[in-house]
Amino acid sequence: MAGMEIELKEMLSDLDNLQRSLSDPSSQASLIKMRSRVENLTALVNSGQGRRSKVKDMSAEVVDSNPYSRLMALQRMGIVDNYERIRDFSVAIVGIGGVGSVAAEMLTRCGIGRLLLYDYDKVELANMNRLFFRPEQCGMTKTDAAVQTLSDINPDVVLESYTLNITTVQGFETFMASLTNKANSLSKDSTGVDLVLSCVDNYEARMVVNQACNELKQTWMESGVSEDAVSGHIQLLIPGETACFACAPPLVVASGVDERTLKREGVCAASLPTTMGVVAGLLVQNTLKYLLKFGQVSPYLGYNALKDYFPTMQMRPNPQCSNAACLERQEEYKLTKPERDAAAKAKMEEEALTVTESAIHLDNEWNICVVDDDEQDKKDAQTRDVLPEGLVHELPTADEYQRLTAQEEAVNSADDLEELKRQLEALNAD
Ligand SMILES: [Zn+2]
Repeated sequence: MAGMEIELKEMLSDLDNLQRSLSDPSSQASLIKMRSRVENLTALVNSGQGRRSKVKDMSAEVVDSNPYSRLMALQRMGIVDNYERIRDFSVAIVGIGGVGSVAAEMLTRCGIGRLLLYDYDKVELANMNRLFFRPEQCGMTKTDAAVQTLSDINPDVVLESYTLNITTVQGFETFMASLTNKANSLSKDSTGVDLVLSCVDNYEARMVVNQACNELKQTWMESGVSEDAVSGHIQLLIPGETACFACAPPLVVASGVDERTLKREGVCAASLPTTMGVVAGLLVQNTLKYLLKFGQVSPYLGYNALKDYFPTMQMRPNPQCSNAACLERQEEYKLTKPERDAAAKAKMEEEALTVTESAIHLDNEWNICVVDDDEQDKKDAQTRDVLPEGLVHELPTADEYQRLTAQEEAVNSADDLEELKRQLEALNAD
């Protein structure tokens, strides 16, 4: 870069000498033009100098120049077993709008191995109330603008962008092919991508992602923000194991209104950078937990901004689902039940063994008393129940909600869904 800067400087002085020696006024205009071009090039070279070079290994060294030191600290603090694994994962993001673009930036900053980006739209000034895109990117495709910004932020991430509409026949074919492209995959045992994130804004596109993932047995996460900008949700979908999008679309269940009627032609939807940022944050948090195997991965998490209410629930697949691939996956899942039971039993036995071992070997030199997590939870629940006089809970506490969900497990899944709809409608009514 420094060499290029010197060359450009020399070129400017050559142009100055030439301008002085030439007496013909007609050549002056082209000399001025050439001069301004060299100046533009110099500015470009200088702006490019802020770009960091690629980093070969994710070092845990605590220095200001290490882009990953704060992330690797998660490992040192025992939150994540092996943070560096993040470089082996490929994540596909469908829809690079208010949620998708922010999710892409978060994953890029976290050092994800590879990102596949899908969108057919262009950046507009009307998008500037949201995060990520900048006014000077107006007119660019969202995919090109995203690649520009993301590669500057973290050149270690492999970016693949697809400017296409997945709801067209051609677009769907390219979408399917890109998800199963093993040649670009980072880990040998992966099918192509490790997770698909749906960040689209309409029902049809969600059904297309659902179709693709059901066919490919691909785990994915769905996200959405309501048209009035004050609520949203994220949902984990594992074909055959959880409800698919056709089994029970979350917005339909949560509001009692068919989402197809929500997206009205010619009506301008509201959007807030806050709600979209919250939903993108919840989505990527769940993604990190899922990929790096820490904490609890949320099956469904809603967000109601007006009440600061975060409902959670679990939805089992609908045996009468209209999606044929979903029914196939459900059958396959049922067949693997003995394997799952054996694995669960082995895990429980192993845990029981660890507990006994630690009880024997624990030499409590410091008199440290460990409070059981469950006991602590019970205590917390008790304190939460004690409210000052005159105050009542408007909404059921998370614990009560969990109990309701647990009871439903016993009922068959058709009733399960009806009951859930009824509860949610009751919640939305007040
Ligand atoms: Zn289904």
